[in-house]
Amino acid sequence: MSTVLNACHCGYTGALAGTQHRGLFYSLTCPECHRSVEAFTLEGLAENWNKPAEPKQVAEEARDV
Ligand SMILES: [Zn+2]
Repeated sequence: MSTVLNACHCGYTGALAGTQHRGLFYSLTCPECHRSVEAFTLEGLAENWNKPAEPKQVAEEARDV
């Protein structure tokens, strides 16, 4: 089972800082913009990481137009 991580929202494509917290959950952090995601499984971690940027921001931008 292999999981592909997308580039960060900031465009960073290098190595990410992955941490396992006492075997309870995992976190992944971008060293460039410090965006971080957490999950209980590596699969969930990749899923969270690959999610597109917050849809809230899109709504706010749309309202400005
Ligand atoms: Zn980033």
